[in-house]
Amino acid sequence: MDRNLINLALVVGILFVITACVCRSDRDQKPASPTPEKSASSSTPAEKEKPNTGKEKIKDEGDFVVDHVDVENPKYADIDREVREEKLLEKAADQLNKALILPHDITLRTKDCGEINAFYDSNDPTVTVCYELMEHFYQVFRSSGLSDDRAYEKMFDAVRFVFLHEIGHALIDTYKLPVTGNEEDAADRASAYINLEELGEDGVNAVFAAADAFAIESKRRTNGRQDLADEHLLKEQRFYNSLCMIYGSNSAKYENIVIKGYLPKERAVRCENEYQRTSDSWRNLLQPWRKD
Ligand SMILES: [Zn+2]
Repeated sequence: MDRNLINLALVVGILFVITACVCRSDRDQKPASPTPEKSASSSTPAEKEKPNTGKEKIKDEGDFVVDHVDVENPKYADIDREVREEKLLEKAADQLNKALILPHDITLRTKDCGEINAFYDSNDPTVTVCYELMEHFYQVFRSSGLSDDRAYEKMFDAVRFVFLHEIGHALIDTYKLPVTGNEEDAADRASAYINLEELGEDGVNAVFAAADAFAIESKRRTNGRQDLADEHLLKEQRFYNSLCMIYGSNSAKYENIVIKGYLPKERAVRCENEYQRTSDSWRNLLQPWRKD
């Protein structure tokens, strides 16, 4: 694994430049409790003002910022060093800052966490992707029979979906966006929307990889009481939802998803409308915060 972790860094660049993420258990984090006053940054607001759909001014008082933390497990030292040297987080932050206004800073961080996880912490606005999660995805794809190289490739695709899932939580909290359903599902939809609308084939690959990971993991165990009670949807549901988003984004291009039986026809016929509603909703919700 150590050798591979060195290779891993080479691909992380693609991941974060394009920005990407399947949070496994950000349920551990406290519920969103927006306190923008507390965390408002000291940046200069006056020169960053932008019209809010012509009705009011929204001040750009924050940025996505990078915070590097020393790894505790030497196993991840190589990948951590590469992340720093290649400025992968800085490049991701730059992409996000070019696109979105923020009322306060949001920190982006990769580190070893002692657990397989990725999460958004609203108390100290931070999106964290754990190296253990990357390793987990690699092992998931390797267990399905993929080659070493292919497993690494798909690992980064899946992490791209997870990363953007966490960004979805961050945006919901930061912008105080309305969520009338399950926020975990909304974060999945945010990731699917950004991947499929903004990132081209890389984005499609991210949602496919997440779907694959959900499918592989769901076969490993039977859902128990904790799974059924969890705020995340079941992995089986996240698998079908991911496929529905891809198919719904372009039913002609991705017809094989249905033809080959991965997505039941009874669900597939609804996916174009479902995707349209999802993408329209996220587009409208983010519009006031877009820089261009
Ligand atoms: Zn989540």
